[in-house]
Amino acid sequence: MIVFGLTGGIGTGKTTAATRLVEWGIPVIDSDVIARQLVEPGCPALQTIVELFGEEMLDSSGALRRHALARRVFGDPGARAQLEGVLHPLIRAAWGRKVSDWRSQGVDRAVVVIPLLFETAAEAQFDVTICTACKLATQHQRLLERGWDEAQILGRLQAQWPLEKKMERARYVIWAEGPLAVLEAQLRRVLP
Ligand code: ATP
Repeated sequence: MIVFGLTGGIGTGKTTAATRLVEWGIPVIDSDVIARQLVEPGCPALQTIVELFGEEMLDSSGALRRHALARRVFGDPGARAQLEGVLHPLIRAAWGRKVSDWRSQGVDRAVVVIPLLFETAAEAQFDVTICTACKLATQHQRLLERGWDEAQILGRLQAQWPLEKKMERARYVIWAEGPLAVLEAQLRRVLP
């Protein structure tokens, strides 16, 4: 089985690319989705987050207040490291299990979407790495369109390697700017 690791900066098009791959029938697991599942009410990781950052991380229904957590950790590298120390091993174990399942089912290729692929030293887990990329101005504009302010954008960008460094390390770079047909054509070349 060929295991592809799909990474890239925030808002560069990882999810858009992954959606196409799913439509083409390629097995995909997204570590952001795993991260959200891990902090659902009743999950042990959510309890740990409350122990670390306080009850104010929960709303009245006991669900995680994502914006409050993001405000707490982006801009405070120590707090972010604490949060990552809780979540990253669980996230890696979850996609690792899925990849093992696919392997034992005889799947011939699969994709793990993992924004912090290089930052978490996960490179050795993949046969092929792919990085989505676009111009910094485009990335910035996409994040503004999500309703983020400048401080939020800066905090998120500083929590990751610069895009250029990810592009250098990846086996393939997918230029995710302009028509989606061009994105698809590039994906077809990497995963024919
Ligand atoms: P995050 O890191 O927050 O998960 P992401 O890397 O998964 O972000 P997307 O959620 O795919 O990025 O967002 C990219 C946005 O850019 C989407 O709104 C998408 O429609 C838009 N877009 C425009 N042109 C392209 C393109 N050629 N390739 C990919 N995305 C594009």
